[in-house]
Amino acid sequence: MTDKPIKTLTAEQAAAEAAELRPQLLTWGKQYYNADAPTVEDDVYDRVYARLVALETAFPEIVTPESPTQNVGGTTRGDLPKVTHEIPMLSLGDVFSIDELKEFDERLRSNVDEDFDYNCELKIDGLAISLRYENGEFVQGSTRGNGQIGEDITANLKTIPSIPQTLSRPLTIDVRGECYMPKAAFLALNERREAAGQAPFANPRNAAAGSLRQQNTQVTADRKLATFMYNIADYEPLNTRSQSGLLDELAELGFTTNPAYQVAHNMDDVATYIDHYQGQRSDLPYGIDGIVIKANSLPLQREIGATVKVPRWAIAYKFPPEEVQTTVLDIEWTV
Ligand code: NAD
Repeated sequence: MTDKPIKTLTAEQAAAEAAELRPQLLTWGKQYYNADAPTVEDDVYDRVYARLVALETAFPEIVTPESPTQNVGGTTRGDLPKVTHEIPMLSLGDVFSIDELKEFDERLRSNVDEDFDYNCELKIDGLAISLRYENGEFVQGSTRGNGQIGEDITANLKTIPSIPQTLSRPLTIDVRGECYMPKAAFLALNERREAAGQAPFANPRNAAAGSLRQQNTQVTADRKLATFMYNIADYEPLNTRSQSGLLDELAELGFTTNPAYQVAHNMDDVATYIDHYQGQRSDLPYGIDGIVIKANSLPLQREIGATVKVPRWAIAYKFPPEEVQTTVLDIEWTV
């Protein structure tokens, strides 16, 4: 990757650089999503990805359909049954500074006629899951996969205590959220693995992903996974019409939701929320890698829509990497 200012590049130079970055990102993506064993830190991946986005934004003609910017990362493992997501499971666009966040807000407001609030949420560092309920009964659970087709992990999800088998109302819904491994469970798991001569997991996110894709449900059950649900494929069956109300209604239905959400009227409120939770990050019992802001009105979310990869009504603000990190080769963790 070069750091030449994009403005100084010709389209040919940009295309050549993008053609080098894409296979690199795809290789890292395979190791991260499919093998649950990343070989570089997330911020390295994020920097290269951001460079590719910048190149493709400046020269839209160089975008290819296979580009990691055009596809939700991840595929499905051959040994697991497949599930088609009728409403795709998307990724999130990301920004790394308050200035970029303000640009996102200005762009969105310039395309929307009405005034609106955001709902601020913690960005839980786990993996996305989808839970299908028919008449209030849990019938199927899946991973995001490539966003269109995920893996059927129903039996494993049934072992997670925070996932209700029956809802408080007989709704037919697809609820989406994050499955994660609490920090304490991650530390204990890696200690056990090292004692048994097994390679430790690189981070709680990969440990959670590996634990959910087990053939033996008892292994998943022993891994102490937890969930926070935050989305629904189609909000029609709910009473609420806001994102903050959706979190309350999901909790009433029996799901575990993250309590640290807050409605923000403007970017100053958002910045205050970010500051607060960035400070709390290391004290939380689970990993967060940023915060997500979402237009709070569900009908407005629907009206704004999505690209092939990300909703246009939400964005993730990514935190800088934590000072103390785990790596595959050098396990260090202090809490
Ligand atoms: P992402 O994880 O950055 O963001 C999208 C995901 O955020 C959603 O799918 C959802 O699962 C999750 N999320 C958590 N809390 C949420 C909330 N409150 N509301 C909505 N969504 C929430 O995007 P991604 O496409 O899953 O993965 C890309 C990221 O994965 C990269 O930014 C990089 O950090 C990491 N990655 C790392 C490597 C590596 O080699 N280290 C490789 C590939 C990807």
